[in-house]
Amino acid sequence: MTKYIFITGGVVSSLGKGIVAASLGRLLVSRGYSVSIQKFDPYINVDPGTMSPFQHGEVFVCEDGAETDLDLGHYERFIDTNLSQINNVTSGSVYQTVINKERRGEYLGATVQMIPHITGEIKSRLTLASKRNNPDILIAEVGGTVGDIEGLPFIEAIRQFRSEIGFQNSMSIHVTLLPYLPTSGELKTKPTQHSVNVLRSYGIQPEMLVLRTQVPVSKAEKDKIALFCSTNKDSVIECKDMKSIYEVPLYLEKQGMTEQVLKILGLENREPDLSSWANLINKINNPKKELNIAIAGKYTELNDAYISVVESLKHAGFQNDAKVNLKWIASEEINTDDEARAHLSDVDAVVVPGGFGVRGIEGKLKVVKYARENNLPYLGLCLGMQCAVIEFARNVAGLENANSTEFDKNTPYKVVDLMEEQKNIAGYGATMRLGSYPCKISEGSKAKELYGADLILERHRHRFEFNTEYKEQLTNAGLVISGTSPDGLLTEIVEYPNNDFFVACQFHPEFKSRPQNPHPLFDGLIKTALKQKED
Ligand code: GLN
Repeated sequence: MTKYIFITGGVVSSLGKGIVAASLGRLLVSRGYSVSIQKFDPYINVDPGTMSPFQHGEVFVCEDGAETDLDLGHYERFIDTNLSQINNVTSGSVYQTVINKERRGEYLGATVQMIPHITGEIKSRLTLASKRNNPDILIAEVGGTVGDIEGLPFIEAIRQFRSEIGFQNSMSIHVTLLPYLPTSGELKTKPTQHSVNVLRSYGIQPEMLVLRTQVPVSKAEKDKIALFCSTNKDSVIECKDMKSIYEVPLYLEKQGMTEQVLKILGLENREPDLSSWANLINKINNPKKELNIAIAGKYTELNDAYISVVESLKHAGFQNDAKVNLKWIASEEINTDDEARAHLSDVDAVVVPGGFGVRGIEGKLKVVKYARENNLPYLGLCLGMQCAVIEFARNVAGLENANSTEFDKNTPYKVVDLMEEQKNIAGYGATMRLGSYPCKISEGSKAKELYGADLILERHRHRFEFNTEYKEQLTNAGLVISGTSPDGLLTEIVEYPNNDFFVACQFHPEFKSRPQNPHPLFDGLIKTALKQKED
């Protein structure tokens, strides 16, 4: 039977509960337990796919095409397991299911209510996640902060669920903030006490507390918190800010967190195998080289908007013993070739990531042009591939004003256009080309060299595609199409072979990179940049 760990947050949001959940997942996996992680998001959007990245950060895409919260990216990266739609539950999706059932008459005349119908649906998602993945342990993280009105149905559902499955089969971990007051040099525990009180007022007594803090927490402070919050002293765990998020599992492990968790759940404590993770941390902390890599995008004020891209660059850096320094470039600030040069002359490689809408596009095209003309290693992701195609069409193949119809409906050369099946779609939610699709790799290409495979699977999230009508013109001008759908109709990867590394893909490789297994395209970018630097 699956055991459950419920993680809630208190005092403030953005505490890094996702990293705590993911880290605990890693620690349990390292003891041979199978783990799945589910995120409950209290907002009413059915999924985050319709939210601006400025609002909510990146939309993480799973193999099955689920558009999910960015925490699922952390989960996948830490526990090294693919997750799916069932791992991300929003209030919107719960309400939608309940309302659809009501419309079909499935409640047989009942008054449909928050309790038991909404809470019942939340509980059934928990059961479904454990049935689907059949893990030894399911970690369920509730987004937001305890006390938020919108999070209440989730907390109530968890309270009921715990009672129904037997309290020995689950536990509650509350993650809170210990603010540090520099004037008095004190860590304050009162907000944590209040937050635990709120959680208790909903009927949940947390068995463990994780304290987010800037500075170490003394034994006396931990004991005081245990006393006032009615937890065991060994179950008050400190989680200090770390240089790298990947250090968190070992930091928690050192305090005996996993042992306590297993004890509370009545599971055997096995010897953990954390040697490869410790090697990773060693690599992270002892880089031998350094690289400056630019990310030229639209949502650069909020780094979370590109979190998987950032992590993928770091992973490839770890593998190559290189520290990756990021330089954020707001593409809308680049209007001329000179401005592109000014921004890019001090970097070793550039990535143009995914995005939507016309804002900043001309600047991205200048970035691509600079990279192509100056042999600056270039990796284009989704929109970054579409920009590479447009730039090449305009400046190499001579198709003046070529564009994507996303940005200019009247362009004379629609080198990027809506897919046929997208033309009649009306709504915006979950209607893109989403999730994992196969891609055939051409012999002799850079992609073949990097992947070392003829057929790969990569995750997608886009509406527009390379327009095959221009295939001949662009390839005659020197663009190489090195990856296509198996039927050859959709272009998946383009390259410019005159450069050391100019690769752009229609899919999002950043969703498949793992800290101990970097993605080949990111690895290739970093290796090329390092080689150029050495030469
Ligand atoms: N806006 C482009 C499209 O919809 C690219 C999407 C993306 O980069 N994810 O096709």
